Amino acid sequence: MSDKIIFAGPCSAETEEQVLLTAKDIAQIDKNIIYRAGIWKPRTRPNSFEGVGEIGLTWLKLVKQQVGLKTATEVATSKHVELALNNNVDVLWIGARTTVNPFSVQDIADAVKGTGVSVYVKNPIHPDIQLWIGAVERIQNVGIEKVGLIHRGFSTYNKTDFRNEPMWQIPIEMAVKFPDLPLICDPSHISGKRHNLLKVAQKAADLNFSGLMIETHLNPDAAWSDAEQQITPNVLKDLLGSIEWREQSAIKNIDAMLQKLRCEIDSLDQNVLDLLAKRMEISEQIGSLKKDNNIPILQVSRWTDILNQAIEKGKHIGLSSEFIHNYLAAIHQESINRQNNVMNHD
Ligand code: PEP
Ligand code: MN
Repeated sequence: MSDKIIFAGPCSAETEEQVLLTAKDIAQIDKNIIYRAGIWKPRTRPNSFEGVGEIGLTWLKLVKQQVGLKTATEVATSKHVELALNNNVDVLWIGARTTVNPFSVQDIADAVKGTGVSVYVKNPIHPDIQLWIGAVERIQNVGIEKVGLIHRGFSTYNKTDFRNEPMWQIPIEMAVKFPDLPLICDPSHISGKRHNLLKVAQKAADLNFSGLMIETHLNPDAAWSDAEQQITPNVLKDLLGSIEWREQSAIKNIDAMLQKLRCEIDSLDQNVLDLLAKRMEISEQIGSLKKDNNIPILQVSRWTDILNQAIEKGKHIGLSSEFIHNYLAAIHQESINRQNNVMNHD
């Protein structure tokens, strides 16, 4: 786990005592864990706890000084950035409700510019990858070098077992687009409930994520925000201990093998396309013949013969009759379209 980036700490800083005691317990698990705590909480609806504000930063400063953990907090405005930096916060993250707003992201980027601090960008609330990419570009465009991604799942209209659907293909696409940026998974906001945390975290490990952000609280049920998804430092310790991170070298090997197999597939696909193009040319020649001799395009018995022959062949080469049917139906339709063109033009 040592090369993995782990963020842990409460959803929200609540009191000085809570912040410091939680940090001490977390430091006993691993001194490299980055201590997270929300100071300003952008809540979807008003009248929920909106964070303790600036005073919380002085508690984070004490965490650095007395416990020795690096600290991280969420920023949504240039003022937040300025206050966080005045209190030596090491890592800033942009929350899901802020990533959606290019003005706010630009405002934050301009405030961080030149400070050398790390900025992690959470995915936007909704599954709009362009907004996520755009936010990262705004941060990078001002010359900020230490940039990371946090996958916290996506809000959907249909509620499922997840608080926010993981939609893994989106972070994977981000990893392909930004291969050099650390990609962190936040199972807490994806799960919304403790019971799913390990499953989601393990999936992130299987997908070669760079680390995790996990909300941790001394007394989760009494937390002032996100009570249902937080875990105690003890549970965090067990959870981190039970995740299996895949060997980097194994992943590299598999990457190379995948690369090779994909090249073979690409080349076969090219051959199939070339063959199909030839097949269509012959179809057109048949179309001309039919036109010259006034024969209708569709010959049902011929189509049935082609289909039956192919289904029979499919049985011997491991292709299901359903697949053969769909495949030939698409080819046959394209063929009819081509013959139609021949029949009805010139
Ligand atoms: C948080 O990390 O506590 C938080 C508010 O997250 P998100 O922006 O992912 O909702
Ligand atoms: Mn939270």
